[in-house]
Amino acid sequence: MHHITIRGVRIDDVTYADVTDCITGYIADGHPHHIVTVNPEFIMEAQHNEPFRHVLEQADLATPDGFGLMLVSRWRKTPLRMRVTGVDLVTHLTAAAAQRGWSIFFLGAAPGVAEQAAAILSQSTPGLNIVGCYAGSPYPNEEQHIHTLIRQTQPDILFVAYGTPAQELWIARNRTALHASVMIGVGGAFDFIAGVSPRAPLWVQKIGMEWLYRLIKQPWRWRRMMLAVPLFLWSALRERTTSAQE
Ligand code: UDP
Repeated sequence: MHHITIRGVRIDDVTYADVTDCITGYIADGHPHHIVTVNPEFIMEAQHNEPFRHVLEQADLATPDGFGLMLVSRWRKTPLRMRVTGVDLVTHLTAAAAQRGWSIFFLGAAPGVAEQAAAILSQSTPGLNIVGCYAGSPYPNEEQHIHTLIRQTQPDILFVAYGTPAQELWIARNRTALHASVMIGVGGAFDFIAGVSPRAPLWVQKIGMEWLYRLIKQPWRWRRMMLAVPLFLWSALRERTTSAQE
């Protein structure tokens, strides 16, 4: 599988169909697997957060989530084919799950939001088997209880919505204790699907401005994003220049 590496973080050049095919194999082999959806904030976080960087290295699949990654890949002349975002993965994989008989557990988000997202998806996707929803929290004192809930239901796919990097670290800590085949951190996906957070119109997504829309609608992200996105572009550019000189 083709991949690129930006600031030491691997990003696989996959489409939604490729991810579905990989998951078919993961479910068949019976081992736990971790899929991460890498965006510029992940890459910047990995530069100073060693445990998070290690989790990204160990992930079975790393999808390109974020227009910044597409820009850098094109500029390097090794273009990634498409963005594969957390929220769109949830909708694609629920459709695939209904067709293939996979079961799903929704973990995370504020109380009631996962249930609301699950109800909306179940209505639009006949045959969808959502075996559990639980808000919980990413803190270690909740882990035993969550293990019990997930072990009872043994989902094929577990979506975890605790935000980055908490959800990736949570999955890495708990992956062998859960009896779930595939685990994916999906950030604010349940909020988008439940309508708690507005998603940018499709044309805004297509021109690569979803980050700006999110910034306007959720201004508390200013500090985090205004630091991460330009820093990411600058450091990815610098990395290329430096390696070209070597
Ligand atoms: N969240 C949670 N418990 C926490 C912290 C966050 O359930 O202790 C949820 C929050 O309700 C939201 C998601 O994690 O649904 C994070 O969404 P955000 O859009 O911030 O994540 P990002 O996509 O930026 O990683």
